[in-house]
Amino acid sequence: MSCAYHIGNQIQLICLAPHKCKFQRKLCGECLFEHEVDVKLYIAPIKKFQELVTQKLELSKPNNELELTAQILNFKTILSSTQNMLKQIWDQLTESIKQIFDMIEMEDKSYQKIISNNVNPTELSNTDLEKLVQIVEGKSLDFWKEKKNSYLKRLEFTKACLDQETRAFCERLNKERKSIMQLITMVGNSQENTQSITLIEQVYKRKKDLYEVLIQTKNIDGSFLNEIIAMLKKEKITNCLEFFSKQIKDQTQLKFIANVILNINEIDFNKKNYSLKENEQISKNVMKKNIFRKTNH
Ligand SMILES: [Zn+2]
Ligand SMILES: [Zn+2]
Repeated sequence: MSCAYHIGNQIQLICLAPHKCKFQRKLCGECLFEHEVDVKLYIAPIKKFQELVTQKLELSKPNNELELTAQILNFKTILSSTQNMLKQIWDQLTESIKQIFDMIEMEDKSYQKIISNNVNPTELSNTDLEKLVQIVEGKSLDFWKEKKNSYLKRLEFTKACLDQETRAFCERLNKERKSIMQLITMVGNSQENTQSITLIEQVYKRKKDLYEVLIQTKNIDGSFLNEIIAMLKKEKITNCLEFFSKQIKDQTQLKFIANVILNINEIDFNKKNYSLKENEQISKNVMKKNIFRKTNH
């Protein structure tokens, strides 16, 4: 295959650097000369690259496939068993509640039947007559009313409990679900920029020390930064703090950079002009610590 950038040259090398490769990872000798990457670390001849691929696949394939199949199966099993568990408790609960309300209704009706007007006591069954006598002589109806009220209160509690527990349960599961759905976004982005995305995927933590903030920028791809700067210029955005505040919810890498910039703004350092003499030493230290990653493009 011939080089798209240098007519007549053959592609001989593959770039493995963790960046968005300016040469689409296919390099000829001249590309290599122009490409500022660590040759020992990140440049492989095509044949060597193929060997690396085969090695990697052989090492990871059989194990991984088995693990994946097992994991999928495990998940299907647990999903189906939890579904059964939930269905079972739901059915039992429905049935129990129905039984209790049926019992209350039946008891209510049995009192209504014997209390209803114009009933000839002699026509009542012995049990019913006994009940009627208890109502007239004793307090059995009052007892039942009290009992019924306490039953209804108890059921009221169950209802609240069911609602509250289910809501909490669903919320917890949904939180976990949303959290694993982020894995998909991560995989999607990784085609663009595998390594840096993985490295900066963690939640951004505000830092009080400027060095700590800058250390984190090691993982930002220089070319991505250039794209943002170009965009800011093109859109004529002069208030970049305002622009970045709006980006916090956006894509991962941009979000990360936005957080770094907003963080720097919070730190006193930014309020001074760091080209001033008194701040020269800080600038030097920053450079010495080699915090800024060299832009490769
Ligand atoms: Zn490259
Ligand atoms: Zn080339």
